[in-house]
Amino acid sequence: MSKQNRVIAFYDERMLAHEPDIEVPFLPGRMDKRVRSLLSGLGVPWKYPEHPARLTAIRRLLELEPVPGVIFEAGMAATREQLARVHTLSYLDHILELRGESAWLDVDTTAVSPGSVEAAEVAAGTAIAAVEAVIKGRAESSFALVRPPGHHAEPVRARGFCLFNNVAVAAAHAHQALGCERVMIVDWDAHHGNGTQDIFWADPDVLCFDIHRAAPFYPGTGSLEEIGVGLGEGTNVNVPLPADAGDTAYLEAFRDILVPAAEWFKPDLILVSAGFDPHTHDLAMNVSYDGFAAMTGILQELARQQCEGRLVFVLEGGYNLISLSRGVRTVLNVLAGDAPPQPGRRGIAEVKAAAAFHRDAFVNKIT
Ligand SMILES: [Zn+2]
Repeated sequence: MSKQNRVIAFYDERMLAHEPDIEVPFLPGRMDKRVRSLLSGLGVPWKYPEHPARLTAIRRLLELEPVPGVIFEAGMAATREQLARVHTLSYLDHILELRGESAWLDVDTTAVSPGSVEAAEVAAGTAIAAVEAVIKGRAESSFALVRPPGHHAEPVRARGFCLFNNVAVAAAHAHQALGCERVMIVDWDAHHGNGTQDIFWADPDVLCFDIHRAAPFYPGTGSLEEIGVGLGEGTNVNVPLPADAGDTAYLEAFRDILVPAAEWFKPDLILVSAGFDPHTHDLAMNVSYDGFAAMTGILQELARQQCEGRLVFVLEGGYNLISLSRGVRTVLNVLAGDAPPQPGRRGIAEVKAAAAFHRDAFVNKIT
């Protein structure tokens, strides 16, 4: 009998109300002019790729194919005070004033619709709820299924579809309100988590490990040399990879860099900025479902060794709805107790059996 762990998946429909539609006229201003001139130069019609169907696709798959041991709970909205642990008050006031409006926030295509501010508050608050569930012992691990994503959001700037840095808000809450002395953030999204790196750049109590496709891929940061400063020097670990790197490279980085870093750092909690855009379907990298399962298995084992299994996933990117939803389900399966498969071994037993079956056919006949 396979053992089953209690896992809580957090989902809240308020996050579906973030739906920027670029056809709708936005607040007039310099930003609108600049973004529209950029978009008009693209040649092909541009749609906002970070849309509500990302979350509903995940929810639908988990309803059709439930994972035993995984239960759903609603999220909650983050307060201004919780957000202010990682964003400046002037930035928060600017965003909170846009409640009920449509506007461009940044030239790198971050926009809001009337429901976006609440959606972003709920995304950050739901990441907090997922951390609280694990710290208070209600589940060994949890997954905050949130959008808009967070890891590109900087203390004073919305970027790359991100408004508030959800994982950073959750880490700061664990550290400042829940008694975690050291928090480790593992970011496996295909893009570098520039915002998370910025927020904890000089902070020795938060170790950021980020594996991603190397610059000049968006956002252009995340080189090896970016290791943090001051007391935080050495607690920022980047692993930039070439395009199309896959399971073998990711797993080697996990075993050879992430595991020793965690053993040195001794975290009280491990958070994962889980983007599913490294999957082959999203065309930037070459990670498979088995690869995501194996990475989850390593993190689960590490969390059990270091911090009583406390492991919290926070959704980041992933734009192909099939690999996004299947990827999330794959992770939940491992969290709930399924043994992760060994990547690259699928079908090998069948090939060996087929080879044995056919072998006699190729023996030279004696004449
Ligand atoms: Zn991404």
